[in-house]
Amino acid sequence: MLTGTEVDTRRCTVAEILVLGAGLCGLSTAMLLARDGHQVTVLERDPAAPPEPAQAWEAWERRGVNQFRLPHVMLPPWRARMERELPEVLDEVLAAGGLRLDTLAMLPESRRGPRRDGDERFQTVTARRPVLEAAVAAVADRTPGVTIRRGVAVTGLLADSPARACAAQNGAAQVRGVLAAGGQALRADLVVDCCGRRSPLGSWLEAIGAPRPAEEREDCGFFYYGRHFRTRTGELPRAEANLLQHYDSVSVLTLPGDNGTWSVVLTTASRDRHLHALREPDRWDAALARYPLAAHWRDGEPITGVDVMAGLEDRHRRLVVDGVPVREGAELSFAAGDPVPRVSTVDARFGADWCPGSRLRNRTMTVPIRLRPIRPGSPTSPSGYGGWRC
Ligand SMILES: Cc1cc2nc3c(=O)[nH]c(=O)nc-3n(C[C@H](O)[C@H](O)[C@H](O)COP(=O)(O)OP(=O)(O)OC[C@H]3O[C@@H](n4cnc5c(N)ncnc54)[C@H](O)[C@@H]3O)c2cc1C
Repeated sequence: MLTGTEVDTRRCTVAEILVLGAGLCGLSTAMLLARDGHQVTVLERDPAAPPEPAQAWEAWERRGVNQFRLPHVMLPPWRARMERELPEVLDEVLAAGGLRLDTLAMLPESRRGPRRDGDERFQTVTARRPVLEAAVAAVADRTPGVTIRRGVAVTGLLADSPARACAAQNGAAQVRGVLAAGGQALRADLVVDCCGRRSPLGSWLEAIGAPRPAEEREDCGFFYYGRHFRTRTGELPRAEANLLQHYDSVSVLTLPGDNGTWSVVLTTASRDRHLHALREPDRWDAALARYPLAAHWRDGEPITGVDVMAGLEDRHRRLVVDGVPVREGAELSFAAGDPVPRVSTVDARFGADWCPGSRLRNRTMTVPIRLRPIRPGSPTSPSGYGGWRC
């Protein structure tokens, strides 16, 4: 039962929506919103269009995502969300050689115990990150209502002129769209920021006279040293222990991938300077050989050297400060988080499981939104469409 000024979003008229960033979250968000009938344009700074998913590992350059070629595994909550909301994405990943994986069943029974009802929730579908993202992009590309514009860097938010903003809402500028490199203004009813964890949203808001979101950040304190491997037979190493194994000064992650590939990550404390030598492939190999439950994951053809990722930060942004949205009364503009796990590499929630599109649909997102319809052509609906206000 809806009360007061709230309306059922399913009966809202079409809004023009800009999603900033065509990463995993931006693309999923765009597809979900387009399915609700909205016109969604995704703006992505990286110019290269994705190749066929199966070729993405070799052929796709993505400078905008630092961890693009680093080991990834999609966790069961992501699979469950996709199965519920975007099942074609899972079909596309599987068609590109992605792997259906039961993270529990792959363990020897002596480790996991007998199967129980409900254990199927530990299933996932996974692939190397470029393959996975190209599959998501392929589905987004053919989703009616979604337009993806690559090579468009957003440089700021487009706001009302100060005079109009003053009259409208006590001086607080309203977000009307975004500015792209070259000064192009792109208008929308709603702007969704999916620029990842380094999103400049805070400074963009500040530039239009809005408060910055509250942000806490902390160095996660670890280094990743990852390598990818493959076998020609397509057979993966058997799992003798959990995907994530903790030892005294190293954690070992063994991550099955698509098309007979997998990756192994040695994670260490960044303060442990002696272990910086793990960036050398022969030292990395020698270190892995010392862990009997994981050493056989080296028995394949390496397809990378050692990829190192440091300086990982845990960030938490809140767009509601002391109960007040930083963009009160404006069309909704919010940041998709990219919480890098800090407890351990896979115990914590990964960002890709968190899709702002689902929250927008369910209306349970960071900014408490009270939706009311905007009449077509009204001054608050710059596109001329009916839309939403919050
Ligand atoms: C080392 C590491 C390992 C990880 N491993 C896993 C894992 O195993 N499993 C998992 O689920 N998650 C993992 N994650 C997290 C996962 O990579 C992120 O959650 C995911 O990339 C977030 O997606 P996103 O779309 O929010 O942001 P991103 O993937 O960062 O995409 C943001 C996009 O915005 C674009 N952009 C930025 N600024 C602009 C601008 N001004 N204008 C236009 N476009 C812009 C960028 O080019 C980019 O394409 C890992 C992260 C790290 C760092």
